[in-house]
Amino acid sequence: MTLTDQPNHGRVTPARTVLVSGASIAGPTVAYWLNRYGYEVTVVERAPAPRSGGYPIDIRGTALGVVERMGLLPRLREAHIEMERMTFYEGEGDVVATLRPQSVTGGVAGRDLEVRRGDLTDALYGSVRDDVEFLFNDSIVSLDQSGHGVDVTFKGGGSRTFDLVIAADGMHSHTRELVFGPEEPFHRYLGYSFGILSMPNLLGLKNEVAMWNDPGRAAAFYATGDEVNALLTFAYPETPFHAFGNLQAQRDLISEIFAGVGWVVPDMLAALREADDLFFDAVAQIRAPRWSSGRVALVGDSAFAPSFLTGQGTSLALVGAYMLAASLAHGDYVEGFAAYERDTRGFVTANQDLVGEGRITLMPTTAEDLRRRDERLRNLSEMPPSEGNPVHSALVLPEPPVVERPSR
Ligand SMILES: Cc1cc2nc3c(=O)[nH]c(=O)nc-3n(C[C@H](O)[C@H](O)[C@H](O)COP(=O)(O)OP(=O)(O)OC[C@H]3O[C@@H](n4cnc5c(N)ncnc54)[C@H](O)[C@@H]3O)c2cc1C
Repeated sequence: MTLTDQPNHGRVTPARTVLVSGASIAGPTVAYWLNRYGYEVTVVERAPAPRSGGYPIDIRGTALGVVERMGLLPRLREAHIEMERMTFYEGEGDVVATLRPQSVTGGVAGRDLEVRRGDLTDALYGSVRDDVEFLFNDSIVSLDQSGHGVDVTFKGGGSRTFDLVIAADGMHSHTRELVFGPEEPFHRYLGYSFGILSMPNLLGLKNEVAMWNDPGRAAAFYATGDEVNALLTFAYPETPFHAFGNLQAQRDLISEIFAGVGWVVPDMLAALREADDLFFDAVAQIRAPRWSSGRVALVGDSAFAPSFLTGQGTSLALVGAYMLAASLAHGDYVEGFAAYERDTRGFVTANQDLVGEGRITLMPTTAEDLRRRDERLRNLSEMPPSEGNPVHSALVLPEPPVVERPSR
């Protein structure tokens, strides 16, 4: 029973058990903080273990304060990859411009972090694995909020009741679908789709990005140490739902779109045919008008995916998880969910709105826009180092609420 079950009575028992769906970025972060505030937390993850992979992700601005308060900053600073250069190519490999990556991303050299996605998921998981129950290889099949809690049935069999459920299961969140319905009304397709895969370091690059463009197509090498990820992004008229969950359809679609392209794209397509770690998705945002319904709340990409064009997906997931947990610290979920949304939505929306800038830089779709972009890039290479995009730091984190932990 919670405060809101008996609004007119003095006796309250705050919400205490919570199920989090998804163990990537938002999931372990919200689990960490809720555990600190005295919740009994269970995390259910569809994969057999936290999933690594993906190209390096950025932690910037306000989000740095979240990992700092979790005690992870020194470890992540060590894992930081200082990307030194970003080179843009066209045609058969003509160089358009070479610049510091921060000039494009708005990141701040020496302050903001860029780490392998797996290094971050390892650090986050490591910070809660001993305090929180993890159910891997499992997922939620159904949710029923009609009683005094959420009755959950699991794919692996069995059912349990939790006070609260938090959906941190990504852009295509199944938990969101169970509560809010299909993805479509929340999904804002930005006109591109992409695939990311690891591949051999053919160009012998280290700590740099090489990106080739023509109108509507971009092929990039992200080289970090000995690891190279290829990113193939392309304009596509609609979300390629037909390719989701179908590796061969994803390979075929990308191969068809990039057929006949020069530079090192044929080598990328050869790697694509063999790749078993392809990460394929639409470049899209999730804009959910409400982030909670009853006892279920959304966080991270499931609530507000900003798309990689903003480079802010991970930072928003970290900040959102921190804010959600802080607003639940005292156990009243109705007030807590409202506070989470009230205090976080402005920051999220401002960051989602950065998408226009990313689109112009990375993915011009007409020859004229590409020419203009190239001109802009050449000017950027003359600019002094970035002092950061104020939008990345536009939210000041509240101090973690002090909560007396209940005895268990
Ligand atoms: C393997 C992988 C690689 C990625 N690579 C990149 C990249 O290269 N570049 C980039 O910009 N972004 C990438 N992302 C997305 C990026 O991690 C997110 O945009 C961002 O960090 C927000 O994190 P999140 O925790 O909200 O969601 P996500 O990171 O998407 O995590 C969602 C988690 O929920 C799990 N899950 C999904 N459905 C269910 C279910 N029904 N039940 C239980 N668990 C479920 C997933 O396995 C995953 O662990 C990647 C995500 C994953 C999972």
